[in-house]
Amino acid sequence: MSGEFPIKIIHERNVCIGCCACESIEPKFWKMNTDNKVDLVGAKKEGDEVYTLELKEMQGNMEAAESCPVNCIHVEEKGIKKI
Ligand code: SF4
Repeated sequence: MSGEFPIKIIHERNVCIGCCACESIEPKFWKMNTDNKVDLVGAKKEGDEVYTLELKEMQGNMEAAESCPVNCIHVEEKGIKKI
């Protein structure tokens, strides 16, 4: 997707270990759930435990992705994988 929503956040939720690094950086988008994994707020389920969210702007999600110790947050900008 590009145009109005050039940023795509991808969360491999099954890989998440619930360390909360992403939530501490960008709590507007990352929230701990009762199963000790975080949810990407407003995301849609795109596959088996893969959730995606399209945005107009990156906001703090690049830093959140860089903080993830198991690399289960990915960011695309205009279809190009950034992390
Ligand atoms: S930083 Fe990664 S492993 Fe930690 S809670 Fe966020 S998505 Fe899960």
